[in-house]
Amino acid sequence: MSNPRKILVVGAGLSGVSVSIQLLRKGADLVLIDNGKNASSIIAAGIMNPLVFRRMTKGWRVDDFVPSSVKFYSSIEAETNSSFFQNLPIRRMFSTEHERELWLKKQDREDFMEYMTPLEESDDNYDRCINQFGSGRIKNAFTVNPPVFLAATKKIIEEKGHIIQEDFDYTQLKETSYKSVQYDDIIFCEGYLGMNNPWFSFLPLNPTKGEVLTVRSETLPEDESLNRKCFNLPLGEKKFKIGSTIDWNNTSLETTEEGRDEILKNVSYIVEEELEVLEHQAGIRPGSKDRRPFIGTHPDLQHYHVFNGLGSKGYLLCPQLSEEFADFILDGKALDPEVRIERYYTSD
Ligand SMILES: Cc1cc2nc3c(=O)[nH]c(=O)nc-3n(C[C@H](O)[C@H](O)[C@H](O)COP(=O)(O)OP(=O)(O)OC[C@H]3O[C@@H](n4cnc5c(N)ncnc54)[C@H](O)[C@@H]3O)c2cc1C
Repeated sequence: MSNPRKILVVGAGLSGVSVSIQLLRKGADLVLIDNGKNASSIIAAGIMNPLVFRRMTKGWRVDDFVPSSVKFYSSIEAETNSSFFQNLPIRRMFSTEHERELWLKKQDREDFMEYMTPLEESDDNYDRCINQFGSGRIKNAFTVNPPVFLAATKKIIEEKGHIIQEDFDYTQLKETSYKSVQYDDIIFCEGYLGMNNPWFSFLPLNPTKGEVLTVRSETLPEDESLNRKCFNLPLGEKKFKIGSTIDWNNTSLETTEEGRDEILKNVSYIVEEELEVLEHQAGIRPGSKDRRPFIGTHPDLQHYHVFNGLGSKGYLLCPQLSEEFADFILDGKALDPEVRIERYYTSD
């Protein structure tokens, strides 16, 4: 039997831990380095919404991503005896009559049945919040509790591989040797900090700041996540995460008065109640202009790889894409053309 591939993964956010677990499951010998400056995965709401409300369409590859996510997150829960993943319906509060009509047109179509519950009188009469144009209930929507998920995955990686807590020092990487240890592959999963990566700076990473609030509410429902202009996520004990702002090309981790006011204004389309703010956080999503991740191998350095650009839907995309990436690295299987980084260095 040949020796397992020795792989160094940089970054222990959602991308890095998911890629590490998929590689470990396929028998790799793995080291994960992280500097603890996580800015996105840990503060994310972890909502997995299969629909795009703008035109009432299905999200990209949701028919692959939803079942793959259920399998991945449930398997980690079982392996670590932890609980961080749950089915939580999203109630879309329609913002116009037109939106309600779009829903009605699609709700009975075979390709939408998995995700849309046909409207009933009770949806039009829903009175737990402001309900001007009625509302529709999305099924097959889920949430991950990020801190519990990240802790569970790190436990697995520590048991089966190795985690080093440090800033990855680019000057110490000499071909495939890092600090004098030889690796077969180096994989960069650095989130928005990948902007500083000397080998993958040609990728147009779009850092997108987002602010979120944790509030206490007496009126918001605790059994579903309401959505209009913003999301709210029940955390239990009348606490809710609400957000988030979208601020392109901003890499500041400061929370702002403007961000707070914008979220509270948006939530006023859902509830009239004055909400008590308990916590205010900011993070930075690793976005891309074409809304597709950056996955693949460096054009000249065949041992350097990247898995980044998950944008605002990482928790839904990551399980399937990290599995496809592990198959690509270890078995040479082709990646989805839409995620391949070749789109930034070939003309066709
Ligand atoms: C406010 C907000 C709300 C969100 N809500 C949702 C949501 O509801 N649902 C959803 O699916 N997604 C959501 N997201 C998006 C989601 O957080 C991202 O898609 C995802 O977390 C990106 O993960 P990542 O691992 O690529 O990046 P990161 O989470 O940024 O992780 C990168 C890791 O690499 C480490 N690192 C970077 N460079 C180095 C280095 N040189 N040396 C060592 N370590 C390094 C960092 O410290 C960090 O731990 C939200 C994001 C924000 C900001």
